[in-house]
Amino acid sequence: MILMIDCLFVHAPKKVGSYLEILKMPLGLTALADRLSSAGIRSMIMHLAIEQKLDPEFDLNRFIKENRVKIVALDLHWHPQSYAVIETAKMIKSANPDVMTVLGGFTASLFAGEILKDHKAIDFVIKGDAELPLEKLAHHILNAGPADELITIPNLAFRDGDKIVENAQSYTIDPVVFDSLKILNLSLIRNSGIYNRIYHFERTLQKAPIDRILSGQSFAYFNLGRGCTTNCSFCGGAKAAQCLINGRGDIVARSFGSAVEDLKQAKEYSIDTIYTSFDPYPGTDYYLPLFELIRKNRLELGIYFECWSLPSKAFIEAFKSTFTDGSRIIISPDCGSERARGLNRGFSYSNRELIDTLDQLNNKKIKTDVYFTLGLPFEERSDIKETEELMELIKNRYDRFFKAKIMPIELDPGSPMWSDPEKYRIKTDRTTFKDLYQAHNRTPSLGYRTDKFSEPEIIRIYRDILKKLA
Ligand code: SF4
Repeated sequence: MILMIDCLFVHAPKKVGSYLEILKMPLGLTALADRLSSAGIRSMIMHLAIEQKLDPEFDLNRFIKENRVKIVALDLHWHPQSYAVIETAKMIKSANPDVMTVLGGFTASLFAGEILKDHKAIDFVIKGDAELPLEKLAHHILNAGPADELITIPNLAFRDGDKIVENAQSYTIDPVVFDSLKILNLSLIRNSGIYNRIYHFERTLQKAPIDRILSGQSFAYFNLGRGCTTNCSFCGGAKAAQCLINGRGDIVARSFGSAVEDLKQAKEYSIDTIYTSFDPYPGTDYYLPLFELIRKNRLELGIYFECWSLPSKAFIEAFKSTFTDGSRIIISPDCGSERARGLNRGFSYSNRELIDTLDQLNNKKIKTDVYFTLGLPFEERSDIKETEELMELIKNRYDRFFKAKIMPIELDPGSPMWSDPEKYRIKTDRTTFKDLYQAHNRTPSLGYRTDKFSEPEIIRIYRDILKKLA
């Protein structure tokens, strides 16, 4: 059957040897596709790795031709996708020269001009929030609008002959538009039954049997808002990065009423669990009215909630009485050393406060993941020793439903340490898109060293810690 798709959103994960990275798609994609569909632009979201899993012979170019696709929108949000996305665009453009390719997402936004200059396979880049610009661009392409129309589209970067034009980034989403979006219209994702269940198969998607995936826990990725209220040294989504990439000075959030409608919609798609990472006022009662609404509407849902600091006692109580038993709280102290934590985390706290909170979660039998890292700016060997000790303490003090995990960080474009390496005393050879594109076609690496640790040292210490914890 010919589907007649005007705009096909394609998500291309990164291949790392025998597994894939960046399996989750940016959260805004469903809202973008829904907005285009509502404007009469037939849209579909495709996860390339899922198509290739279902059919190893899957031919994206044939799909594009058969279904008369006019626009391919590729998300280049997370930098590890840099190589995969550009190569996918090249492959599409060489077989379908009339199809227009457009990129969006944080990484594409940050390097829009360079991407257009170096990669002729990309026709357009939308910088920052994309709802209005993409709709205007799609209308322009589908109606063969006049060339000078392009300069009227906010946030758009495009090629005009040999010249790269970057229009002013004058559109950022406001609360009214944000509330009007349907952000969990999962029906627009092709093979969403599988996509909704890949959470537990992040490293094993290619090998896992389909029926095992389909019988697993289903997740919807849902953030109440966009932006952050603080700056962690390593975060490409920090307040300063949001300003740089999206022109967003403050957070923007949906109303709780719309959020409940989103969650009802998720239930219609048989979602068991919501995964969320938007906690701009941690330790406050911000979420309590929403949790109350969820209870009033008798929405039986699990949640994985990433806390950006420590949750309050009232939050923990409300969490326990609102969500199902499989729910999890995720806390990231990042390091055992209060000194290093204070220098790197926007929202910091003492180890005493952390342990008191973990005790409360343990008493309530709330499943909890505690995330650490290493190789942070200003970190010394003695700080990493404190991380090891704190992880050991968590392992010994709490029930089995507590997990302490550690993972080195990769340099995130747009993050404070990327923007000001001198201040954070790091060195990197990644400053351009070309650096990212080349780096992500090689063996995975962190992309930086600190004044105290080289990259191989960070990896070696990380492996030693893993061995000890095992
Ligand atoms: S890691 Fe820090 S800066 Fe990034 S979103 Fe979380 S709290 Fe904000």
